[in-house]
Amino acid sequence: MAEGTTTNAGWFERATAVIPGGVDSPVRSFRSVGGTPYTVVEGHGALVRDVEGTEYLDLVQSYGASLLGHAHPVVIEAIRTAALKGTTFGAPTPGEVLLAEAIVARVPGLEQVRFVSSGTEAVMSAVRLARGATGRDKIVKFDGCYHGHADHLLVAGGSGVAELGLPGSAGVPLAAVADTIVAPYNQVPTLSDDVACVLVEPVAANMNLVKPVAGFLEGLRAECDRVGALLIFDEVITGFRLSQGGAAEFTGVTPDLWCFGKVIGGGLPVGAFGGSAALLASLAPAGPVYQAGTLSGNPLATAAGLAVLSSVTAADYEELANRAQRFGRDLCGAIRDGGLWACVPAVGPLLGLYVAPPGDWSAPSDYAGAKVIADTGIYPAFFHAMLRRRVALAPGAYEILFVSMAHTDAELDRVVTAAGEVAVEVAREL
Ligand SMILES: *Cc1c(COP(=O)(O)O)cnc(C)c1O
Repeated sequence: MAEGTTTNAGWFERATAVIPGGVDSPVRSFRSVGGTPYTVVEGHGALVRDVEGTEYLDLVQSYGASLLGHAHPVVIEAIRTAALKGTTFGAPTPGEVLLAEAIVARVPGLEQVRFVSSGTEAVMSAVRLARGATGRDKIVKFDGCYHGHADHLLVAGGSGVAELGLPGSAGVPLAAVADTIVAPYNQVPTLSDDVACVLVEPVAANMNLVKPVAGFLEGLRAECDRVGALLIFDEVITGFRLSQGGAAEFTGVTPDLWCFGKVIGGGLPVGAFGGSAALLASLAPAGPVYQAGTLSGNPLATAAGLAVLSSVTAADYEELANRAQRFGRDLCGAIRDGGLWACVPAVGPLLGLYVAPPGDWSAPSDYAGAKVIADTGIYPAFFHAMLRRRVALAPGAYEILFVSMAHTDAELDRVVTAAGEVAVEVAREL
């Protein structure tokens, strides 16, 4: 560490001078909760330590990129072994073949994948492939689902009947989103026959956690088939976290294209998209849809990803889901006992966390519902009171809780205890 700077405030001040907003991804800033982010120097298992030496029980886990917990020895060893042989070549490597085989073997219906370097790239490329393969331009996405920061997917749509979206960011031209249709989550839109693809998070995990209602994914599958559109599952969060085979296995609905990221890189930058061999044949060099990447299939990243996938079994996922769900019930109970309203939806090991002042709120089933809870505005106080008790939640009301395979029952119990105290504290201030 550079001499002189020993505090979170000091590092953030230096960061802000040379990095816009002091962060390389806006979710890391404390913009929506106030205050100064902690600057992490290391993490092990369920814990992270900041520059001041404070240790937090970490429920961020790199927004889901970490499945085994931080600095898992098997992953570190895989990276070390790979690094000793060289970090990138610009030629095919065995590592990318091994990871592709591991992915294809685990996901029912998936035949081929191509690696990229982020989830954003995976979705961007899958959408291009869908457009190229169908010869159609229009795409459908759902309000509150996040698919990375490509122009045509950065759309803030209103809910209600499916409508043409408006850009959700400055710098995104109207023309870039003109073919993006935004529909409310959990309602099957009626598609016209000029739609190339329907893009969906099979479990919505970027508007806090919203479960797909019974029939939603099945309905999308049927509606896509009716008009010849492709169904794309954005499994950047659900892939290799919901279960060994991801959301397709978990829900029994099979998409035409999958997007992966986060877990499959073992903490290094990776994404992948895939589908049937017939569909992927449209990609260059075999087909007319161009897609490329200097660092795609990087040896370090594929080695780390393979180490993660190889070290977890179907039983591990079941155990993780059981542990997370027990924790979720206890957490919800503790917050409610403390005097706030709470809802902790669970899908497999994925947990949401909605907190609100006491009242007659209901569990959200779409973005509009999630926004109602977030707009009560008590999350920032809840977040900071948890942080003071050394529990790191994500600094935003639309994020979910990530319980890694390294989180022990004892550690999760500590979170429950803290949350109970925090609820009392926050309720008192209302
Ligand atoms: C994180 C995320 C992305 C974007 O992945 P990056 O690696 O951040 O580019 C895309 N889709 C979903 C569902 C995500 O959660």
